[in-house]
Amino acid sequence: MSAPGLPARRCARCEAAFPSVESPERCPYCGNTWLSDTTLSSTGTVVTSTVVRVAPPGTEVPYTLAYADFAPGARLFGRVRGSAPIGATVRLVPAPEPDHYVFEPEEKP
Ligand SMILES: [Zn+2]
Repeated sequence: MSAPGLPARRCARCEAAFPSVESPERCPYCGNTWLSDTTLSSTGTVVTSTVVRVAPPGTEVPYTLAYADFAPGARLFGRVRGSAPIGATVRLVPAPEPDHYVFEPEEKP
């Protein structure tokens, strides 16, 4: 069962989309305030990722960070539960603050 997509805002000028929690009133890309409500797709495609192997004490390593694209027009940065190579499909899963969301690799059929 797929989770519902993340609530988002979409810019009427540059058409970028971004999570509502990150910038509810202003487009972070062009500064426009003419925004509409939308919902990001629940799955996206990894654009790039990296494995973090050194972190402050108390942080479990290794872990993966990635940029992934979600319709309509959002490129999000976040932590991956597991690993996610470039081109992999990931699910957008709501998470507690400060992350707001994490990426979960989509299981292959
Ligand atoms: Zn914009």
